[in-house]
Amino acid sequence: MKKKIALLGSTGSIGTQTLEVIDEFSDDFQVSLLSGHKNGELLKKQAIKYNPAVVVVTDQETFINVEKDLSGLDIKVLYGEEDLLNSLSTIEMDLVVGGISGAAGIKPILKALELGIDVALANKETIVVAGDLVRKLQSKYGSQLIPVDSEHSAIFQCLDPQRTALDKIILTASGGPFRNLPIDDLKNVTPERALKHPNWEMGKKITIDSATLMNKGLEVIEAHFLFDVGYEDIQVVIHPQSIIHSMVQYGDGSILAQLGLPDMRIPIQYALTYPIRMHNSFEKLDLTKVPSLEFFSPDTDKFPCLKLAYEAGRTGYTMPAVLNAANEVAVDLFLKGKLLFTEIANLVQWVLEQHIPLKEYNLEELLAVDSWAREVSRQYKYQR
Ligand code: NDP
Ligand code: MG
Repeated sequence: MKKKIALLGSTGSIGTQTLEVIDEFSDDFQVSLLSGHKNGELLKKQAIKYNPAVVVVTDQETFINVEKDLSGLDIKVLYGEEDLLNSLSTIEMDLVVGGISGAAGIKPILKALELGIDVALANKETIVVAGDLVRKLQSKYGSQLIPVDSEHSAIFQCLDPQRTALDKIILTASGGPFRNLPIDDLKNVTPERALKHPNWEMGKKITIDSATLMNKGLEVIEAHFLFDVGYEDIQVVIHPQSIIHSMVQYGDGSILAQLGLPDMRIPIQYALTYPIRMHNSFEKLDLTKVPSLEFFSPDTDKFPCLKLAYEAGRTGYTMPAVLNAANEVAVDLFLKGKLLFTEIANLVQWVLEQHIPLKEYNLEELLAVDSWAREVSRQYKYQR
């Protein structure tokens, strides 16, 4: 029996690489649902190639176009978030891949968990914003979250299930394109330069987050919730080669690490085939060709977003949701040339300072906090 995959965000970087993994194992997987937003052309091509039962388009104009062009095929084309949520309960699926970017990815993942469907999680916003709710749903409905984020996949692979003498988690970070740039030059950085990541090809939002180290900050919160580890036991280490994807340190002095080429198809494949491991034809890491592996402490004066994320994580409750929303707005403004690179952290800090965290909340209240934070973020008096 083929494993049925519902691929949310199939037109993105994670989505297209998930389909490459599915191509590699076409006898083992079948696509039952594809979802896209604005890239109708690619979504149509994917629908024709993979023939899913359902295609969901969340952007209205794109939907009209995609529906018209797929009308002769035996594929249901649906529009909007509501239909996306409904189709999770009506279409047969064994695994949901959460590859939508940003807060738009949250509701479908929570819905899948509530339906008892396992989720391969790329959308880190879900766990940063709604970590407490995710945990509750998992324990109530028994659904499993398998990390796709390369660092968390590495930890998932190195973590002793008994957690015997677990000491700490060591999250590696490439340091981004501005690791060696003098702090005074950071304010002049353009979106074009920030979008050139040294090791990974990713969507725009996460690439900017990698340059500010907010991505690592979000990943610290992600690790806290996924692995139930305190913030004092999560260490970030800059490792510019991105060969070691993260590590687990044990109390006997051992460190276990997962190594590989910086290729997202590896953690995606592991999440799809888990709990088994399978051979693939992708290029493999040859350690004799790696010149050196370096490790440094992060500079949080230069990259304050990492510090802000630790603080928001430690405060907990609705604070990480505010961090995430303010950062999404800040990154968007930076990409539009309306905010300096160095102002991203200032904007996020300014919004965090205005928030009094709620101690009890449901999803709707959490999403209201998210909207509030976006609203406040847009009032930030930026310089440019
Ligand atoms: P991309 O920007 O490449 O893709 C985003 C996907 O989400 C696209 O399919 C896009 O559709 C869809 N989408 C965008 N906005 C909406 C919306 N409002 N409603 C519904 N769908 C929407 O992002 P990535 O693939 O890089 O990242 C996806 C997630 O995975 C993010 O949460 C990111 O943090 C995480 N991640 C990504 C990694 C990577 O290597 N790329 C690594 C680790 C985690 P369309 O293109 O059709 O508009
Ligand atoms: Mg990562």
